[in-house]
Amino acid sequence: MINIVGYYKFNISSIRESIISFVTQQQHRILLIASLAFSCLAAYYIIHYCNRAKPLPNGQEINPAHAQGEFNMALANTSQRVILVANKAIFMKHDTGQDHPEAPKRVEAIENALIAAHLMEPDNTVLPRQAKLEEISLCHSQSYQEEVRKQIQDLVHQQIESANFHRATCKVDHVPGDFQISPETWETSLYAAGAPLTAIEYILNENNQTSRAFCIVRPPGHHAHQETGSGFCVFNNVAIAAKHLTQNLGFKRVLIVDWDAHHGDGTQTLTEDDKKIFYFSTHKNTAAGRGFYPGVHWGHKTQQGVGEGKGTVLNCPVSGTKEECRAEILKAFRTQLIPAMDKYKPDFVLISCGFDAHENDSLVGLGLKDEDYKEITQICVSIAEKHAKGRIVSVLEGGYNLEAIAGAAKVHVETLKHSFNLL
Ligand SMILES: [Zn+2]
Repeated sequence: MINIVGYYKFNISSIRESIISFVTQQQHRILLIASLAFSCLAAYYIIHYCNRAKPLPNGQEINPAHAQGEFNMALANTSQRVILVANKAIFMKHDTGQDHPEAPKRVEAIENALIAAHLMEPDNTVLPRQAKLEEISLCHSQSYQEEVRKQIQDLVHQQIESANFHRATCKVDHVPGDFQISPETWETSLYAAGAPLTAIEYILNENNQTSRAFCIVRPPGHHAHQETGSGFCVFNNVAIAAKHLTQNLGFKRVLIVDWDAHHGDGTQTLTEDDKKIFYFSTHKNTAAGRGFYPGVHWGHKTQQGVGEGKGTVLNCPVSGTKEECRAEILKAFRTQLIPAMDKYKPDFVLISCGFDAHENDSLVGLGLKDEDYKEITQICVSIAEKHAKGRIVSVLEGGYNLEAIAGAAKVHVETLKHSFNLL
């Protein structure tokens, strides 16, 4: 009897345990399935949230990569030392004459603004060296160099004979390009071409622990061709730097971002057959009006590089009202430059940093506001951080309203100092 009761007790207990075990297993399964479903749902919403297109104040949509960048920017909270390669005592010597827009005061206005904002201090200012003639020869023919030097020497002699003769327009052979010269132009131009080389050397010295630089130079450079200077430019400072990087220092993919309001015809010509240099330019459509400088032959979307360099030129001409031009420029940076660089993967970034697309520029003006220079600087830094170990050298080109270039340069340097990889 005891055994029978024990037997039934054992069986009832066993059945009860089996039921409990079964229910517990089902509960675990249900919990597992529910948590899996919840995780999938959460993942979907996170991905959807990060990649959704955000509306901009002007009604456009922002690139998803850029939207993600903004998200990351909120998390970033460190800064980097930015080197300024500058020496206004040198760069103000190049005399372009009274009322010329490319005036010596341009560099002074920028330096004063940076000093006032505590962005330019003795410990982050580096004096430029002169470019060597073999470095100038990376882009310019011997005959052009000799012609420039000869015309400047002639000018100096003429000045001795006539104190009233201060300037001449330097035209080399038959070419239509021209620029103003003064007795100091040769020396100043060598320093302007040498400044980005100084910045590159400084950045590549690991002891200096910085990867970002801004060169406050004149004369500008992006209209200078192999055989001629043009559009206020004597030597192509940025193209020389790019060739120096690829031909002398072993870099394989150098990006040049040119946001000057004018197309950099000289830079494109000097680099378009070179697959190691990628040229991206936003500029006013040269077909506008009677043929906006540098003329109707330049800056078209169809010009995408030649020979081995096919696919390494990306021209983004803009047209219309200032607000339309502004929107097109920003869109080009967000939707064309970023994906192009995800394919090209530059190992060094150079900027042809003209400020004449600023809304208040006295010569052009394409509607860009100070905060827009923050955004396009941020995009360039992000590309450099993502692909080029952060290496970025910006070089002054145009920009002719002293107040506008001072404000935009301040924003540019502030952003170089405080921006991060957003891509
Ligand atoms: Zn310009």
